[in-house]
Amino acid sequence: MDGCTDIGLYWQPLGGNNVDQISGHCYSYTDCTRSASDLHYTTIIIDIGKYDNYAALGVPGSDAAVPDVRRFLPPSPWAASAVFITHSHPDHLNGLVHYLKLGYKFPPIYMSRYTRMIFDDLLKEFAVPQQDYPLVVEICPRDEITVGSMTLEAVSASHTCFDALGFIIKSANGTVYHTGDFKADNSTYFRRPTDFSRLRELSGQVDVMVADCCRLMDEGFAPKESDTFKKMVKLIEKSGKSKIFVPVYPTHPEMYVIAFLAALKLKKNVVFYGTRDFYIYLNLMIDYGLDFKALAKERVKVIYHPDFGLDELDGNYVVIGTYNHIGHEFALRRKDSYAVITAKTFFNPLRGQLNLHGVKFVSVNDEPVLQGYGHGFLGDIEKMNDILQKPLLIPTHCPAYVTDYFRDLAPLLGMALITPTPLNGHIFRFIGRKCAKISDGVAKWLVISYDNPKQKITEVLQKPTSGLGFLKRTISRKRCRRKFKAIRHQRLNGVCDVKKTRKRISDSQL
Ligand SMILES: [Zn+2]
Repeated sequence: MDGCTDIGLYWQPLGGNNVDQISGHCYSYTDCTRSASDLHYTTIIIDIGKYDNYAALGVPGSDAAVPDVRRFLPPSPWAASAVFITHSHPDHLNGLVHYLKLGYKFPPIYMSRYTRMIFDDLLKEFAVPQQDYPLVVEICPRDEITVGSMTLEAVSASHTCFDALGFIIKSANGTVYHTGDFKADNSTYFRRPTDFSRLRELSGQVDVMVADCCRLMDEGFAPKESDTFKKMVKLIEKSGKSKIFVPVYPTHPEMYVIAFLAALKLKKNVVFYGTRDFYIYLNLMIDYGLDFKALAKERVKVIYHPDFGLDELDGNYVVIGTYNHIGHEFALRRKDSYAVITAKTFFNPLRGQLNLHGVKFVSVNDEPVLQGYGHGFLGDIEKMNDILQKPLLIPTHCPAYVTDYFRDLAPLLGMALITPTPLNGHIFRFIGRKCAKISDGVAKWLVISYDNPKQKITEVLQKPTSGLGFLKRTISRKRCRRKFKAIRHQRLNGVCDVKKTRKRISDSQL
């Protein structure tokens, strides 16, 4: 790779991070070693996501945007020897499917079982010809894969989908922990939590932590899944109603599970009901091994569609699914119905319908813990930093200004923050914990239009404003600066109480 003229482990964010946008995740690692007088290179890529806010790149008629990884694909001399996928979310996986649809060839791709199930489904959805399917290798937590001069070890991660992984990347030049999306929560249902026992074994041996810092500006720990479950049970119980409606995002299987367990706890029957996307994910979960009917052990009845036995449920049920209307079959009535809305704006049409019928509901606006949490807060990162003994910290999954504003606070928390703040396209070299920026590359996005009249790729250089529309809806620059200042003040004055802070966070709007 350009600029890799000496031994070291080279890292380059290719998309999604550290500039004004937070999706389309993709990172390259190139290990450069020397034998006799020759330099040898091994490159891997971690994640190839799609960029959610592609419309902001200004190409009319576009269908998607992906980070530009072409120089790491054959026949380039810098071609990657392997691709590793952390988890099944579109901002980490779906870019890969667009490349395959466009006919690009890939080296072996490593991913966990559930990620593979989602990936196989995407290949069909995007009609990728079977002869273009790549070689996929299914991996499990703690598996070790050697690629050239690097060895990668998969580490389980608590996140909102099944089988999420992080990777420990080991080379003679140093050891990196690439966390993937994660939180510290050990209460995840039917999924492995972040593998702290393995990470404790590696304490002091990890030089660099490329970490998911999506919620870095939130003090304390991310609420646990068991907190979300308890809150849901309490609210449903308090409502005293017999028909409960719990709309969930299709791509958040953990909420399907939490709502199901809440119904089970309260001895309410369960109806799964929703859009095509909802049923795709539900069926994947059942194929994965989560047989809801078997889990209910006849304590409650479970049906997968209201057409199949709704009248047998005695009007005492929880409707779990992705829906913005409630069909006539449910006979929505003020006197026996109640809803728990687990997402912020997505279910606005449903709110309107509930209001119209005078049906009471609670939403994440009143009880933020109901939305579930996939990303760790500041406390989760501090915990990881302490366990690994202060590795060089590289925040990802956040805009550059989050890292910039964090610069004053990091030393106070005993964290070694990377300098300067990396932007997409920059190249850094690590040797142990020593790190230097060696190149100022500019990131490029490939904007794809599928019928224009035939498929077309437009290259767009990333501008600082590329993600602004998206950010306005998510993170505000001012709020970020204010929050870090407040945390700094609290820590300096010794008034921080993590438990209290956690309560405050779950009580306040997020
Ligand atoms: Zn994710």
